[in-house]
Amino acid sequence: MKLLEDRILKDGVVKEGNVLKVDSFLNHQMDINLFNAMGKEFKKLFKDHNINKIVTIEASGICIACIVAQHFDVPVVFAKKTESINLDGAVYSVPVESFTHKRTSNVIVSKKYLQPQDHVLIIDDFLANGCALEGLISIVNSAGATVEGIGIAIEKGFQNGGEIIRGKGIHLESLAIVESMNHETGEILFR
Ligand code: 5GP
Repeated sequence: MKLLEDRILKDGVVKEGNVLKVDSFLNHQMDINLFNAMGKEFKKLFKDHNINKIVTIEASGICIACIVAQHFDVPVVFAKKTESINLDGAVYSVPVESFTHKRTSNVIVSKKYLQPQDHVLIIDDFLANGCALEGLISIVNSAGATVEGIGIAIEKGFQNGGEIIRGKGIHLESLAIVESMNHETGEILFR
């Protein structure tokens, strides 16, 4: 999606450790008009799927998912991150390693909000190694619901998450795929 790629080139900052900072428009200050355009694009890309729920993970996925959900006219469920290993029987829970914080936390969704009849579009801001998505897929599967597709704002194509998820046969769409980035020069190239 050219609009997003242009914005990444204009305002994205490449950090050491393969981290792209997009705090000024995506995950701290948020450009809602951009999110709206992203929602419109996802609606187009997933038009052949019958989606009745959007699932994301806190925190950065939530706002994007909410704006996207307006285009599908469906509710959003976000998986909560909790350090607790105290499991309540009424939740689906899976350990997820955080790419940015390098720690593992349990990610939970209440059983009330995911049911076998749900056809889910998973939305997240970034795809790196795929841990967050694998956790969300596992939760949707545990509920007996169906993953119809996955929509990502920015995929870092040089990390292996995209390959892992596409290898599962899931319809994955990323609006911008970064092929390479260099923290010394600041150069960002797209696929
Ligand atoms: P994964 O689980 O695919 O390794 O990483 C995805 C999660 O880590 C996303 O939910 C996102 O919050 C965070 N993340 C991964 N890479 C980046 C990055 O380069 N920049 C930012 N801001 N977040 C990232």
